[in-house]
Amino acid sequence: MRNLIKALQISRSFSTSLITRQSNGFSLNLTSEQLEIRNLARKFSREEIIPKAAEYDRTGEYPWPILQKAWDLGLTNTHIPTEYGGPGLTFMDDVIIAEELSYGCAACATAIGASQLAQTPLILAGSDNLKREYLGRLVAEPVVAAYCVTEPSAGSDVASIKTKAVKKGDEYVLNGSKMWITNGGVANWYFVLTKTGDSAANGFTAFIVDADSPGLSPGKKEINMGQRASDTRAVFFEDVVVPAKNVIGKEGEGFKIAMGVFDRTRPPVAAIGVGIAQRALDEATKYSLERKTFGEVIAKHQAVQFMIAEMAINVEAARLLTYKGAFELDIGSGRRSTYFASISKAFAADFANKAASDCVQIFGGNGYNTEYPAEKLMRDAKILQIYEGTSQIQRLIIARELLKRAASGDK
Ligand SMILES: Cc1cc2nc3c(=O)[nH]c(=O)nc-3n(C[C@H](O)[C@H](O)[C@H](O)COP(=O)(O)OP(=O)(O)OC[C@H]3O[C@@H](n4cnc5c(N)ncnc54)[C@H](O)[C@@H]3O)c2cc1C
Repeated sequence: MRNLIKALQISRSFSTSLITRQSNGFSLNLTSEQLEIRNLARKFSREEIIPKAAEYDRTGEYPWPILQKAWDLGLTNTHIPTEYGGPGLTFMDDVIIAEELSYGCAACATAIGASQLAQTPLILAGSDNLKREYLGRLVAEPVVAAYCVTEPSAGSDVASIKTKAVKKGDEYVLNGSKMWITNGGVANWYFVLTKTGDSAANGFTAFIVDADSPGLSPGKKEINMGQRASDTRAVFFEDVVVPAKNVIGKEGEGFKIAMGVFDRTRPPVAAIGVGIAQRALDEATKYSLERKTFGEVIAKHQAVQFMIAEMAINVEAARLLTYKGAFELDIGSGRRSTYFASISKAFAADFANKAASDCVQIFGGNGYNTEYPAEKLMRDAKILQIYEGTSQIQRLIIARELLKRAASGDK
């Protein structure tokens, strides 16, 4: 099946972005290849993820069997370029897949997404050798990676990180601790941001660190509100020796490299929100046609209809914004896509929460119970407003980008 994604990739003659440029303007239709990718991801989500998601949520067990099957189908590592053995799919493809997987279980989508987050700085700024080694591992076997930036005292304020790397000959020695690292206990390798100097602009350096490096140890699995099958941990570094060849880019470039990934990774997080919101809408609609009060199905009550209509409006809007974030990347419009990446993430994250909460409301008491799918959606949605930049930070970025454009007269 991996070959299906490969065959599709090869058969493309032009950008496979959704909003494909056409002679008479643009189209909002998915291309036939994108429909095939969506159908593949949708079938996988319905058949392999949904039946098992509640149990993984209950036990908190890492969903390795699901990840392995997704890897086998070519639904993971979508960003890895073909020259490094990956499928080299577009960002549009990526958000289509992320939505479908999240529809089944957002924890599984996050585990896959976190690995892609760790790969992105390597793809953008790593040396050829580093890419061959570490991207190569991900395409050779179903293993995952992790992105280690946040620390106990530095989340939104990334520049306050304290993990240090000190150069000794051809090696660096890392000391410090990271916090809230997705895939923290299961990764084959880690992207790690460290401090190597005092300068705010050039005082950070990024590394790839092998999981089996002596002195590196993951903490206990954190028990989170939602996405419980996702593996979140602290990661400790005690005199961890890393060869200088594992620096991504050059010493001093780490901050820019670590932050540069988000234009590419926020639209897929938005897609997780779309997947959750679509599932909330579908579950609520189905339930409203079954549950009766006062002699008729609750779908007949206008108050319920309005909640469903509101969910539909926001699902459609969130999906289009997500596609826009991916489109900006695929089309290579020349300017950074920061603005739409943040808009898509902020909007989809906020409305996934609203949709999941309204889904619980429509289910009534049943919505509050683990026998029904609604409460998991609500717990799973919350983190979307926190990781990869909180909803407040997204608004700061959107305003900054908007004001920058306004000041320069750029439309
Ligand atoms: C489940 C989970 C998985 C995660 N996965 C990863 C991962 O894989 N890798 C990784 O590096 N990190 C990861 N994180 C960390 C995540 O990115 C941070 O939690 C997030 O960036 C917020 O940082 P913080 O928790 O320190 O909150 P803080 O930065 O302390 O923020 C607290 C509150 O203050 C607000 N705030 C902060 N500064 C401002 C400001 N300037 N203006 C307005 N409001 C502000 C925030 O929006 C928030 O509401 C994960 C976190 C969780 C919970």
